Amino acid sequence: MQHSAPRSRRSFLQSAPLVAAGGLVACGQAEQQAAPAVQSQQHFKWKMVTTWPKDFPALGTGANNLAHSIEALSDGRLHVKVYGAGELVPASGVFDAVSGGTAEMGHGAAYYWKGKHEATQFFSAVPFGLNAAEINGWLRYGGGQSLWDELYAPFNLQAFPVGNTGVQMGGWFNREINTLADFSGLVMRMPGLGGEVLRRLEVTVKALPGGEIFQALKTGAIDATEWVGPYNDLAFGLHQAAQYYYWPGWHEPGTALECMVNKQALEALPADLQAVVAYACQAANDDMLSEFTARNSQALKTLVDEHGVQLRRFSDELLAQIGKVSAEVVAEIAGQDPFSSRVYDSFDAFRKNSIAYTRISEEAYTQARALTFG
Ligand code: CA
Repeated sequence: MQHSAPRSRRSFLQSAPLVAAGGLVACGQAEQQAAPAVQSQQHFKWKMVTTWPKDFPALGTGANNLAHSIEALSDGRLHVKVYGAGELVPASGVFDAVSGGTAEMGHGAAYYWKGKHEATQFFSAVPFGLNAAEINGWLRYGGGQSLWDELYAPFNLQAFPVGNTGVQMGGWFNREINTLADFSGLVMRMPGLGGEVLRRLEVTVKALPGGEIFQALKTGAIDATEWVGPYNDLAFGLHQAAQYYYWPGWHEPGTALECMVNKQALEALPADLQAVVAYACQAANDDMLSEFTARNSQALKTLVDEHGVQLRRFSDELLAQIGKVSAEVVAEIAGQDPFSSRVYDSFDAFRKNSIAYTRISEEAYTQARALTFG
């Protein structure tokens, strides 16, 4: 997709006597001459397909923001056009579109691709797994990213964590859920491993893309659903189709979103534009979590105060029972193949360490704050 290639970086460097050893230019005049020419003038036009409705709050707009950052940081040399779900390919076609080169980038969530490999789910959300800060820690400093790279390489993809919803809500129901028996017979939308857990609780599980949820719940095609949290759930109007809003979202404790990039497209970029992509992704990863943090609490207040939504907490007994089933479901993935076993071991070890520290840090702090501030 490159439009011009007037001069390669290599050919410039070979003919650039003013660039001193160590990369520093010798004087101000040399800097003025050297700086523009160091940059390749190649221009690239990329497509980003997404699993979200176009411009959907935080998810779709976060993808838009990533495209804008890449454009700005590259001084317009890398232009990314964003497509909502269904515009170029359906939500379920994003992985194949980027893998095959129909689009250079895709934004979605790794657990949507469990049909490609069960281990994808560890890089998005695992029931009773890592929260947002922990999964970023595992990916960046705990060995998670190199496992993700290994998983996606055969698909011709490079993945970057881009966004995190924080802990999600437990879902929308039209009747109270007090015991495991209350799940039995429900038809519920839930993706990923949470869906597999519910299957074992005799729930009929649907993995509908976001854009189809409201209609399905409103018409009774499904009895219950989870989506994300107050900000996104309010945007879909889910409170108009169900009365009870349960917490906490045991199934998605801090769902990592992803930007996947076609490897050939990425490697065709000059080194500085590859860095632009990587750092723009890192900035967008932080920005989307910040937006969810700010907007979810506002939206929760709107749902309760203005729409009369009934908040309900899953009981400790119920959560412990679901947790036991969840542990079995997640451990089964480890038994499927040697790679999944390595991912599980890495993830599980990180979780064990995190539990020990979180108990005396974030968890202890929020409990302490609640003693005074509620
Ligand atoms: Ca969800």
